[in-house]
Amino acid sequence: MQKDPICSMMVDDKAAALKSEHEGKTFYFCSPGCKATFDKDPHRYAHR
Ligand SMILES: [Zn+2]
Repeated sequence: MQKDPICSMMVDDKAAALKSEHEGKTFYFCSPGCKATFDKDPHRYAHR
């Protein structure tokens, strides 16, 4: 399981279709809305 960096929900990374990469790390999302928020400003969410 991986944590959605936007809403902190746990996401099953084996089933997850929603993911983004930032600086070589992969982030997983519970919904297209969370992914869109991350993609708009990945730096803000990837480093906390
Ligand atoms: Zn989410």
